[in-house]
Amino acid sequence: MAEQLRYDGQVVVVTGAGGGLGRAYATFFGSRGASVVVNDLGGSFKGEGNSTKAADVVVNEIKAAGGKAVANYDSVENGERIIETAIKAFGRIDVLINNAGILRDISFKNIKDEDWDLIIKVHVKGSYKCARAAWPYFRKQKYGRVINTASAAGLFGSFGQTNYSAAKLAMVGFTETLAKEGAKYNILCNVVAPIAASRMTETIMPPDVLKALKPDWVVPLVAVLVHKSNTETGSIFEAGGGHMAKLRWERSSGLLLKADDSYTPGAILKQWNKVTDFSNPQYPTGPNDFLTLLEDSMKMNPSDR
Ligand code: NAD
Repeated sequence: MAEQLRYDGQVVVVTGAGGGLGRAYATFFGSRGASVVVNDLGGSFKGEGNSTKAADVVVNEIKAAGGKAVANYDSVENGERIIETAIKAFGRIDVLINNAGILRDISFKNIKDEDWDLIIKVHVKGSYKCARAAWPYFRKQKYGRVINTASAAGLFGSFGQTNYSAAKLAMVGFTETLAKEGAKYNILCNVVAPIAASRMTETIMPPDVLKALKPDWVVPLVAVLVHKSNTETGSIFEAGGGHMAKLRWERSSGLLLKADDSYTPGAILKQWNKVTDFSNPQYPTGPNDFLTLLEDSMKMNPSDR
C-alpha cells in the first residue's frame, strides 16, 4: 500500500471551501493532520449575497471528524484578512489553495462591464490578494505551497465565458511567474484546471457524467502538489474523475525570414505551412527560450532555414 501523505503541523488555507471542490480539499487536509482555514463568502454561484453558513458547516464537519479548523467569511478580494485568520488561529501558513470562484456566463454580444469586472475581481484579484498576503510568511520560513485554479474554459475557450476564460488563463501566467519568484525560497506554485460536479456544473452536465466527477477525485493530485515531498513547480495540470495530466506550451518549428525588404506579408503567406508545422515542436518554458531560438536560427545558413 502506498504511504499515506500527511500534513501534521501545517496550516492550509482553502478559499471558497464552503462547498464543491473547496469543501473536498478542506475536509481532506483536516483529516490528514493539517489545521485548516475554511474561507467562504457564502454567496450564490453568480457572486450574489453572503452568509456564514457555508464555511461554518465545513468547519463543523472537520471538527466532528477530529480535525482542526477555523472559519473565515471574507471575500477573497480581502485576502489579507483570510491570511490573518490563519496567523491568529494557528500562528503560521504553509499551503494556500486559491479555489474560490463564481460564474457570470453571458455571450460576448451581451456582456456588461459589471459581468467582466466581478469575474476578474474574484478570480484574479482574489488569488493575487491571498497569495500576496501569504508571501512574506512563505519567504520568511523558506517554505510555501500554492495552488491556483484555472479551467478548461481558460485554456481552450468556452462559449459565453469570455470573462471567466480570461480570468482562468490569467491564473496560468500568475502561477508561472510566482513559481519563478518563489523557487529560491522553496515556495512551489502550480495551477490546476479541475473538472468536478458542483453547483457550478450541475446545470450544464448530465447526471450520469456528474456522478463520475466527484470533487474528491480532484483532491489527491492537489494533495501531492502541496506536500512537502513535492518538487514540481510552475506546472499546469488538469484533473477530474480520476484522470490527471500535465499540460504545456508547444511551439511549431516556425519560420525565420530575413528582416529586410523581402520580409513581407506575402512572403509569410508563401511559407505559412512552416509557421503552423508542429512536426518538430519545441516546448518553451520561459521568454529566454525565444531569444535562444532566434540566435540559433540567425547562425544558420539562410538556405537551411
Ligand atoms: P462552487 O460554487 O461549489 O464553489 C466555489 C466556492 O467559492 C463557493 O462555496 C462560493 O461561496 C465561494 N466563493 C465565491 N466567491 C467568493 C469570494 N469572493 N470569496 C470567498 N469565497 C467565494 O464551485 P466549484 O466547482 O467547487 O469551483 C471551485 C473552483 O474550481 C472555482 O475557482 C471554479 O472556477 C473552478 N473550476 C471548477 C470546475 C468544475 O468543473 N467544477 C471547472 C473548472 C474550474
